[in-house]
Amino acid sequence: MATTLDEKTIEDVVAFHGHWCPGLALGIRLAELALREVGRADDEEIVAVAESDSCAVDAVQFLTGCTVGKGNLLIRDVGKMAFSFYRRRDGKAIRIIPRLHPEEKDDPYRELQAGSNAGTLAEEERIRFAALRDERARALLDADLEDLFLVGPAPREAPPHAPMEPSRLCEKCGEKVMETKARLRRGRILCRDCFDGEALR
Ligand SMILES: [Zn+2]
Ligand SMILES: [Zn+2]
Repeated sequence: MATTLDEKTIEDVVAFHGHWCPGLALGIRLAELALREVGRADDEEIVAVAESDSCAVDAVQFLTGCTVGKGNLLIRDVGKMAFSFYRRRDGKAIRIIPRLHPEEKDDPYRELQAGSNAGTLAEEERIRFAALRDERARALLDADLEDLFLVGPAPREAPPHAPMEPSRLCEKCGEKVMETKARLRRGRILCRDCFDGEALR
């Protein structure tokens, strides 16, 4: 089933992210699936774990209510396009990954992407790449969620609650640092940067 989100919502996601791209489109669809499976984080306590910091993360933050700032979106960057969602109420825990479409392997898109990354595309190729990107992103909006993603059980435990931690003053720079992030060196409490700086000497 194609996206059930209205045009305005999609425009808002694009405005939040800053551009329209296939990664964002994939994130929009992944968020739709997450909403269907576990609901919205505003209504229930949902925690998400992203396995990379991709464009898709912004769509997930905007649409699911799991955000880095609230602490219910954690990025555990292993470089994978995968998200887990945990619903604390009943312990439902899922992991969503995109399905592999082998035919994508040697399509012209990848070649253009490589050229774009390297900054070697001619004007004509740049236009073609932009058109292909747009086409690809649109196709993601029209696709069936079942064709796009695989949903399985989350292989890891839900991340623990992360309450506000008390702060201490770093004895070198004098700035406040969360106690659990502070370091101890020769009896002095230091922030990590000061600790690393001292350790280098
Ligand atoms: Zn993007
Ligand atoms: Zn310091």
